[in-house]
Amino acid sequence: MNWVVFDDKVRCFQDAQPWLSRQQVASTLLASFDEISEKAWKMTEGLRGTHERKAKAAVIEKQLRARRKKAPATVKWTTWKPDSLVEVAKLSKEAFIKAPPAGFKYDASLHEEANKNDPTGRITLGPKFFELPVNTRNIVLIHEIGHDLSDITLRDGSAFELADAGAFGKKNERGELMRGINGKYTPGENMAEAYAVLWEDPSWLRKVFPMAYHGIIKAAKTNGFPLPKGVTDGS
Ligand SMILES: [Zn+2]
Repeated sequence: MNWVVFDDKVRCFQDAQPWLSRQQVASTLLASFDEISEKAWKMTEGLRGTHERKAKAAVIEKQLRARRKKAPATVKWTTWKPDSLVEVAKLSKEAFIKAPPAGFKYDASLHEEANKNDPTGRITLGPKFFELPVNTRNIVLIHEIGHDLSDITLRDGSAFELADAGAFGKKNERGELMRGINGKYTPGENMAEAYAVLWEDPSWLRKVFPMAYHGIIKAAKTNGFPLPKGVTDGS
C-alpha cells in the first residue's frame, strides 16, 4: 500500500459522492484522520518488513501533513451579513455589472443563478439571477453565504453526520440523498440551503427537517454565523 491508496480512497469517496470536489474530499478525509501517523501506518499494511514499512509510513505521514496544511481556508464572509444582502438583491443587472459590490462578480455565461465557486471566495451571479424577484434573490444570496458555513461542516464532518442521521431525508441503497431540503441532494448543498431556509421560513424548516434545523443553528452558533431574530434551537 502506498500514497496511491489514499488517492484511490479519494476516488472511491468521490464516486459515491460525485458532487464533491477532489479538494473537498481530500480535506474531509484528512480532517477525519484522528491521528495522521496512525493513518500513515495503516496505509502501509501491505508492506513486508518492519523497517521498510516504517520508512514508507514516515514518507506518507509527511505527505498527509503537507496536504492538510494546503487545504484552503474558507474565505470568511464578513462584508455582507444575511440581513444586509437585500441591498445587493435590489440592484438591477445593469447597475450590478457596472459596479459589482465588494465580494461579488458577474459571469454572463453562468448557467445557474449564482454560485460560490470562485477561488477567491467571491459570489458569482449570472443573468438568471436577475430574472428572479428581489425576495428570491435575497434567499439565493443567503444560500451562497451559507456555503461558507457548509464548507466548514464538510471539513469537520458534521454535514456528513447529519446526512447519515437522516437530517436531509432518506438515502438510496447507494448512500445518496434522494430528496433533501428543496430538492438538494448533497450534504454540502443541504447545509447551505438549510441556512437560507432558516432565514426565509424557519418554522417550515423546523417542522419538515427538524434535525437539519437544529444542526444548522448549532453550526451557525459554533462558527459565528448570524442567526435571524427570534430563531432559537428550542432546546
Ligand atoms: Zn449551493
